[in-house]
Amino acid sequence: MMIHMSKVSPLHPRAESLRVRERLVEGFEASLVVPEGLAAHGRGEAFDYILGEQTTEHAKRAIEAASAMLLLAKHPVISVNGNVAALVPAEIAELAKAVGAKIEVNLFHGSARRESVIARWLRKHGAKEVLGTSVKFSTRIKEVHSDRRKVDRRGIAAADVVLVPLEDGDRTEALKKLGKRVIAIDLNPMSRTARAADVTIVDNIVRALPLMAKDAKRLSRAQKTRLHDVVRHFDNKANLGATLEFMLGRLKNLIK
Ligand code: ATP
Ligand code: MG
Repeated sequence: MMIHMSKVSPLHPRAESLRVRERLVEGFEASLVVPEGLAAHGRGEAFDYILGEQTTEHAKRAIEAASAMLLLAKHPVISVNGNVAALVPAEIAELAKAVGAKIEVNLFHGSARRESVIARWLRKHGAKEVLGTSVKFSTRIKEVHSDRRKVDRRGIAAADVVLVPLEDGDRTEALKKLGKRVIAIDLNPMSRTARAADVTIVDNIVRALPLMAKDAKRLSRAQKTRLHDVVRHFDNKANLGATLEFMLGRLKNLIK
C-alpha cells in the first residue's frame, strides 16, 4: 500500500475522522477495501458524529466484558474484513496475541484475490497465522444463503466465541443460530448486528481495538473467577439502551 503524506490539516475540526477516511481510500487503492466498504463506513460515521467521536463509558464496559469473554474462550476467533484490515491491522494482531485468538479473513463481498491481499496485509502487520484463504479448509454454514457463508473449518466453524468488528446482520444472526457467542463492534446501536450480539461495543473500531488490546493484556493476569464475574455482570440489552440514552441526551443538548 502506498503511504502518502496526509493532506488533512490538523486544525480541521474533523481531522481525525478525515485521516481515517484517507486510510480507507488507501485501502481501496490497495484492493483491501471494496466500494461498499466505503459506503458502510459512512453509515458508521453518522453515528459516531452523534456520539461525539468518543468512547463512552458504556463502550468501555462492553470492551472489558468482551476482553474477558475472549480470554475465557476455548477457541476464540477474530473475523476480519477489508475495512478492519485497512483501519486496524496491527491492533488485530496485537489483540489476537493477547487473548490467544485465531484470525480469519471473512468477507461479505468475497474473492480469492482480496482474501489473500488482506491476509498478506495482516501478516505484514504482525499476524502470525491468518485463516480463511485455503480452499482445503473451507466449509459452509447453511444458516447463511448465497456465497457469504464460507468459513474456515479451523476458525469460525470451530469457534465458541467470535469477534466480528463490522459485520452484517444476516451473518451475525447465523453465528448466533450456530450457538456461538458473538462480540460485535458497531457504531449503530440499532443494527441487527448490535442487537443479535452477546456483547456489543458501540464505538469506532479505530478507538475500540487499541483499548481492547490494552484491556486484554491487563485482564490476562486476572483470576478466571474475576473474568467470569466481569462477563456475568454485563447486560448487553441494558448497555445498548444506555448508549441510546446517551445519544438522545446529546441530541437534546443541541436543541437547547
Ligand atoms: P445490519 O446488517 O447489522 O442490520 P446494516 O445493514 O445497517 O446493519 P452493514 O452495512 O451491514 O450495516 O454494516 C455496516 C455497519 O458497520 C454500519 O452501520 C456501521 O454502524 C458499522 N461501521 C462502519 N464503520 C465502522 C467503524 N469504523 N467502526 C465501527 N462501526 C462501523
Ligand atoms: Mg447489513
